[in-house]
Amino acid sequence: MFPVNDIDKVPMTKLILFDIDGTLTRTHNGYLPFNEAILKTFGFAGDIRTVVPDGNTDPLIVQDIFTKVGLEIAVGPAQWRHFTAHLESSYREHIARGATTIRPLPGADSLLRQLSEAQEFHCSVVTGNFEATASVKLTSAGLARYLGRGAYASDSEHRPDLPAIARARWEIVAARSIAAAQCVIIGDTPKDLQCARANGMKCVLVGTGRYSVEELEYWRPDACLADLSEPQQVVGLLAKL
Ligand SMILES: [Mg+2]
Repeated sequence: MFPVNDIDKVPMTKLILFDIDGTLTRTHNGYLPFNEAILKTFGFAGDIRTVVPDGNTDPLIVQDIFTKVGLEIAVGPAQWRHFTAHLESSYREHIARGATTIRPLPGADSLLRQLSEAQEFHCSVVTGNFEATASVKLTSAGLARYLGRGAYASDSEHRPDLPAIARARWEIVAARSIAAAQCVIIGDTPKDLQCARANGMKCVLVGTGRYSVEELEYWRPDACLADLSEPQQVVGLLAKL
């Protein structure tokens, strides 16, 4: 027990929910497995490079690709399962032969290690990837070991649904509750901020994706960083949020 006078010094538990693409990792030639999975699943040569995927979920990215070429395809649950399986196997194959690479962004590994060593922080993900492909990406980038099970496009195609799912999963594992105000989303797009705000959570945006820091500041997140390359400063910032 802490003496009453020291109560302010007790660090508040924080759940840090990381976006993956453009925040923790950068993928080179990710379009190769994605387009292959579209072709194998739908028999259509769709190209992810024709749309803006940043901040979107994989099912909505696929729908955007269809819309771009005037296709109206109603995709059912079984087809999404096939697409997910094709995407996972395509990613594994392309990574194995070096055609696609997934690297941690500067500071990401060190930041996650420092947060995992600090008692008050717990780290997980909120991502537009399916759970299977999120796992492939995080394992390939060497970051999976730091992150608890979060929420994924396989839970909902609507990103704002995901933070509450990640929070509830953490609460079950930790066997205690955590307030939304104690959760911080770290992402690289205005959509990450929107999903944080929709859930009453705080948000830090980083300029390592499509958007510059100047563009991200326009949306008024709780904090904006050029990147995660100064992990100690990021830890200090998160402690104060
Ligand atoms: Mg992102």
